[in-house]
Amino acid sequence: MATKLVSVREYTVRAHQRQIHTRVFNFVCKECGVPTKRETYGPRPLYCEQCRPPQAPKKSLMKPQKAKPRAMTYKSKTDLD
Ligand SMILES: [Zn+2]
Repeated sequence: MATKLVSVREYTVRAHQRQIHTRVFNFVCKECGVPTKRETYGPRPLYCEQCRPPQAPKKSLMKPQKAKPRAMTYKSKTDLD
């Protein structure tokens, strides 16, 4: 059996589900300076529950889609008005 090296292009993984875990952070709130504790999925939070700024709205949701141009077939010039 012959073998050879081939180049594999970089590619993006398909959408998939992944299990993530929360972590409990003990930290000092940036706003009120009170030591507090929060459980988050993401990075270390900056603010306590009281000072927490409202969650940024998700841009991708509720955004009206632009009408896409429709593919049309023209059989002859007489179809064009
Ligand atoms: Zn605070």
